Amino acid sequence: MLKFVNTYHDELDGFYTALNPTPLNDARLLYYNAPLAAELGLTDALFSRENQGLWNGETLLPGMKPLAQVYSGHQFGSWAGQLGDGRGILLGEQLLSNGNKVDWHLKGAGLTPYSRMGDGRAVLRSVIREFLASEALHNLGVPTTRALTIVTSQNPVFREQPERGAMLLRVAESHIRFGHFEHFYHRNQPEQVRQLADYAIGHHWPELEQEPDRYFLWFKDIVERTARLIALWQSVGFAHGVMNTDNMSILGLTIDFGPYGFLDDYSPGYICNHSDYQGRYAFSNQPAVAFWNLHKLANALSGLMTMEQLQRGLAAYEPELVAAFGKQMRAKLGLFTQHSQDNDLLNELLSLIAKEKRDYTRTFRRLSDVEQGSSRLALRDDFIDREAFDSWYQRWCTRIQPEQVSDERRQRLMKSVNPKRILRNYLAQQAIEAAERDDVSVLKRLHHGLLDPYSELPEYDDLAALPPEWGKTLTISCSS
Ligand code: AMP
Ligand code: MG
Repeated sequence: MLKFVNTYHDELDGFYTALNPTPLNDARLLYYNAPLAAELGLTDALFSRENQGLWNGETLLPGMKPLAQVYSGHQFGSWAGQLGDGRGILLGEQLLSNGNKVDWHLKGAGLTPYSRMGDGRAVLRSVIREFLASEALHNLGVPTTRALTIVTSQNPVFREQPERGAMLLRVAESHIRFGHFEHFYHRNQPEQVRQLADYAIGHHWPELEQEPDRYFLWFKDIVERTARLIALWQSVGFAHGVMNTDNMSILGLTIDFGPYGFLDDYSPGYICNHSDYQGRYAFSNQPAVAFWNLHKLANALSGLMTMEQLQRGLAAYEPELVAAFGKQMRAKLGLFTQHSQDNDLLNELLSLIAKEKRDYTRTFRRLSDVEQGSSRLALRDDFIDREAFDSWYQRWCTRIQPEQVSDERRQRLMKSVNPKRILRNYLAQQAIEAAERDDVSVLKRLHHGLLDPYSELPEYDDLAALPPEWGKTLTISCSS
């Protein structure tokens, strides 16, 4: 039985505007995420033609009380004031059979009091990009919001040019952002900050509810979740592109996909957002930016904790990030033990592939194939400076040899953290172009090919290919 509750609506009066979505005219369900539907206990019938109205905001399910949340935030380092759900509507919270709740959030659902200059709509291109990226990250093991359905319509939405309008049904344990707390803090409403913190703890950290220093423990956990999220982004080569505080989830989920990008060639300074002239959100800046954002959250929560507690919470960031990143990268390098030189070994490999512009994902996957003592080494052929590669490779062999781990076991570990297939920009682009011609087969195949990115699956070898030159220089429009 599909059941909805509305705790955000019922317990947080004054934190939203209640309103229904504005349906997209002549919309039809283009694609739905069958594996996620199964996880949520949804029947196939929900996605049939008769039920299309569910996915474009025309029909509400019993128990839904739709609303747009208000929040504020820092954008590109400056206070931006009130933002809020300008085109998204929280339809309700699905109560799962295990007692957990998930937000159903319809993106592209029309104007709200927070739309500012926007039209409340989303275009098919950006909806497909969000769908693919959130599912790709999820399957790589990175916490993220999820994507359930895509509807589209022939009715145009105007960006740089007319495009097809679309809607995305996004699900997540919660959509609360750092910016929610900043909003009430900057409005001088400390009671609302506390009320929202109590709500968050009650629903998402119930184990802390009875703790005398629950605010501190809660904040420290947000800090640590954020650190682990960033460690995972860095390890899979994901650049978010718009790490404003209104795009930071308190649950440590990846949220709000705009001009994101997965690294092809390893380039630490990679900037996927073309409006980011200063490179604030460059790939290598993400760890520092997340910390900056956490300072803004700390500031907003300063009425709930002592200065010493806030500082102690923030101080948890670096060690958690270093530990999580180290664990992930050691596994990527096939190291079972921990050595003081491991960082150097990693950094030398990264410098080498940065200098030679080698593909990040391919390099680690090929390293996973290595058989010790074998003269066949496909990875070596990828490098121009063979001498530099040989010297690094020798050090790596010397490092792993005393661990006495069989090739088979090391390969298994490495392949479970070094994906064969990632969501490359050009692959997403091909899915978009086909979908715009009403052909969803490319999208479906890409979605399916990324469900288990670590398995060999030769039938999807084309998705593991390196990008063509045009695919590396694709310009992704920031308007979504
Ligand atoms: P973003 O950084 O893309 O997550 O968006 C920042 C803010 O702009 C959020 O409050 C969004 O709801 C709002 N926004 C983005 N695009 C639109 C749009 N087309 N119409 C209304 N609001 C929008
Ligand atoms: Mg946003």
